[in-house]
Amino acid sequence: MQTSLPVAERPRRPEWMKVRAPSASSKYFDVKKLIHGASLHTICEEARCPNIAECWGRGTATFQILGDTCTRACRYCYVHSGKPDGPPDPLEPLRLANTAAQMGLTHVVVTSVDRDDLADRGAAHYAATIRALKRKVPGASVEVLTPDFLDVEEDALRVVLAERPDVFNHNIETVRRLHPNMRGAKASYDKALWLLARAKELADYAVMTKSGIIVGLGETNDEVVETMRDLRAHGVDVITIGQYLQPSTKHAKIDRWVHPDEFRWFREQGEALGFGSVFAGPLVRSSYRADEQRHAAATGRGALAY
Ligand code: SF4
Repeated sequence: MQTSLPVAERPRRPEWMKVRAPSASSKYFDVKKLIHGASLHTICEEARCPNIAECWGRGTATFQILGDTCTRACRYCYVHSGKPDGPPDPLEPLRLANTAAQMGLTHVVVTSVDRDDLADRGAAHYAATIRALKRKVPGASVEVLTPDFLDVEEDALRVVLAERPDVFNHNIETVRRLHPNMRGAKASYDKALWLLARAKELADYAVMTKSGIIVGLGETNDEVVETMRDLRAHGVDVITIGQYLQPSTKHAKIDRWVHPDEFRWFREQGEALGFGSVFAGPLVRSSYRADEQRHAAATGRGALAY
């Protein structure tokens, strides 16, 4: 069980980190009812995302497939970790696609827990989910935010990309120096870069690739730019950069609050490096306004403030 930080120990949030509560007049409660009614998980809830009132209020959400238990335990992540309860639910892709259709989504983001216990690491379930979405919501674009498919990377990529997701997203999460400590021995900075580059090589269509960095974990701004440079060198089109929030006392401590001016500087650096879109801001998360991120990259609007 996760332990929330006692109020007295919570690092004081600066003004720019304040978030709104759900409003009764928004779509928040409709989205909640649909998602819970279909027994689906979302990263919005599982990771206690600070943007949930805003995103669900806009009628969007990010689906989390393959259950609610992750086989990794990254030091910054609130998603429950442990031994997953059996194989993937074969009806989950259909329920998810029906829910996306009911929500009227035009861009559907699907992520998952890591499933190192499965021989294919969940790749076939991703593929089934994309297939179901293309059938049930034919007009919508599909973005997958995948794990690293430990030891079956190439095969898993082929299975997922055969269903032609519009955006292939894999988060590098942090800078090279902090990666082993934050992500553990199974993950690797270079493998994340390789996965993103290989996705582009394997796709027989113009897949958009995307990655994200969390700041406030102990990195320097120069290291963030170095990571952006590495991502660009591996062909990544879209990048997100957002502030880390410590979800419990068991997680890594916040090292610093990154000022909005520094995020602005990251955006400028990212634009200069040639990313199609740079979403950088205190509350930016990988899937935050993902429809707009994709649109910005596709139409050359570049870095966006929010
Ligand atoms: S930013 Fe992403 S995870 Fe957070 S509430 Fe929005 S859609 Fe959900």
